[in-house]
Amino acid sequence: MTIDWDNLGFDYIKTPFRYISNWKDGQWDDGKLTEDNTLHIHEGSAALHYGQQCFEGLKAYRCKDGSINLFRVDENSKRMNRSAKRLLMAEVPEDKFIQAVEEVVKANEAFIPPYGSGGTLYVRPLLVGVGEGIGVHSAPEFIFTVFCMPVGAYFKGGLTPTNFVFSDYDRAAPQGTGAIKVGGNYAASLLPGEEAKERSFSDCIYLDPATHTKIEEVGSANFFGITNDDRFITPLSPSILPSITKYSLLYLAEHKLGMEAVEEDVYIDSLEEFKEAGACGTAAVISPIGGIQTYDDFHVFYSETEVGPVTQKLYDELTGIQFGDIPAPDGWIRNIKI
Ligand SMILES: *Cc1c(COP(=O)(O)O)cnc(C)c1O
Repeated sequence: MTIDWDNLGFDYIKTPFRYISNWKDGQWDDGKLTEDNTLHIHEGSAALHYGQQCFEGLKAYRCKDGSINLFRVDENSKRMNRSAKRLLMAEVPEDKFIQAVEEVVKANEAFIPPYGSGGTLYVRPLLVGVGEGIGVHSAPEFIFTVFCMPVGAYFKGGLTPTNFVFSDYDRAAPQGTGAIKVGGNYAASLLPGEEAKERSFSDCIYLDPATHTKIEEVGSANFFGITNDDRFITPLSPSILPSITKYSLLYLAEHKLGMEAVEEDVYIDSLEEFKEAGACGTAAVISPIGGIQTYDDFHVFYSETEVGPVTQKLYDELTGIQFGDIPAPDGWIRNIKI
């Protein structure tokens, strides 16, 4: 198979190896790499009926010297275990999680896009409740699997701004599962996302489910804004998925760009306070938001066609660290030598 590294989208591409491990009778087996990209599971699996599943997303980056960087993989492990706890699933020990990710990345090394192509290897850890059952309770068995594929930009355009639209729907309830990475939140977002795309927007922006007066997030990426007085602001809410990219940007804005960086409420009637805005996440990286279709207006931030200067600086800092061109804060990078 030949891959056009410079024109990758965000689509499934089969790579040769994935990791799989099974939990039964209170313990995980050793786990192994396999070439089989299908799961054969019981028809009564809780993951299928009651959404007992969670996942993660991280990337492997090809550095200039040919080695490979993993970005904050320990944070992905911790977050998956928070999801697992909330859904009564078996947790995956951090060393097992990291070892599985490293094994999969190494085994599929030929599929990591070259340095400078803009592409990365997207790694998808997945935890599912399986085994016999039909009543509403936790599954008797779990599968932990990790697979990967080369990807390019998540929102078409990359660093070219795209437009978003406020949603009337909610992706999660105030005290629901918004803060954990579970398929159920995404099931709830499929229709709103599709309707936004039909109207030529990149995606919709969810508002706080209780009052619909504050911005929450994009549904697969968190929201941030740069205020006219140069503060980095990102919404604070118990129903937002805590993005590792978002926390990294909060740190970089403060320590590298010397900005005040805070999580606080972002009211939908205060958009004119922001000179730039963007969506951030592992898949989205930093995707500038050109404009937002609000309930009664179309609000443009910096520009509909050009990335703003602060967003550009944050992007350069973040991706510079991820690809190994800029020294990383302690513990952010695991470098794999091939
Ligand atoms: C995964 C995800 C994000 C981004 O989180 P990162 O850790 O930065 O990849 C944002 N919102 C939702 C709903 C997500 O599932």
